[in-house]
Amino acid sequence: MLTNKQVHEALQIIGEMFPDAECELTHANAFELLIAVVLSAQCTDALVNKVTPRLFEKYKTPAEYAEAPLEEIEQDIRSIGLFRNKAKNIKKLSQSLIDQHNGEVPKTREELMDLAGVGRKTANVVASVAFGTPAIAVDTHVERVSKRLGICRWKDNVRQVEDTLMKKVPKEEWAVTHHRLIFFGRYHCKAQAPQCPTCPLLDMCREGKKRMKKRQADPVR
Ligand code: SF4
Repeated sequence: MLTNKQVHEALQIIGEMFPDAECELTHANAFELLIAVVLSAQCTDALVNKVTPRLFEKYKTPAEYAEAPLEEIEQDIRSIGLFRNKAKNIKKLSQSLIDQHNGEVPKTREELMDLAGVGRKTANVVASVAFGTPAIAVDTHVERVSKRLGICRWKDNVRQVEDTLMKKVPKEEWAVTHHRLIFFGRYHCKAQAPQCPTCPLLDMCREGKKRMKKRQADPVR
């Protein structure tokens, strides 16, 4: 496991690699961001960004989604994985925004998590990106990178990863750390092909060292 000093050092290096890391979901306001994050479950941001320009042009308010026939929303998002479930969730979510918040997106994680179909990760992204509330949303990239590097334990669940990161990273850096870890995982420490041989963190990375040892033992890999 990395020491606190090494965690700090690793995050510094990742920050230098991706100084402009930010939310890659296209959105113009908190409501669009909320919809985009719901759509992005088990799907790439790039794919979501292909669908949302037309979707956001067509539906501007929770009321417009709530009033639209479910089948129509399904058709509007059908190129995205799990589109039937997501269409249903968007309708329910829009209705709960109307019922509980007059159609406005609430600002706190707790209120966001009270909305239909909104989990902790979605709430953290919206609270942090749209409203500047310190939060670390743990997605697949954040979890993988944190575990490979040894910031967290392999057996940790998503909530434990979030708690550990919040303990080890200063609060004012939570939001930027979330984006940097995502970029690092998306473009460098990829799920299937992490770039260990050229990784500036190799010296401190337990997973990278293991992979490099395997490569040396079997150079064909
Ligand atoms: S050494 Fe490999 S596994 Fe470790 S952080 Fe770098 S790319 Fe990821």
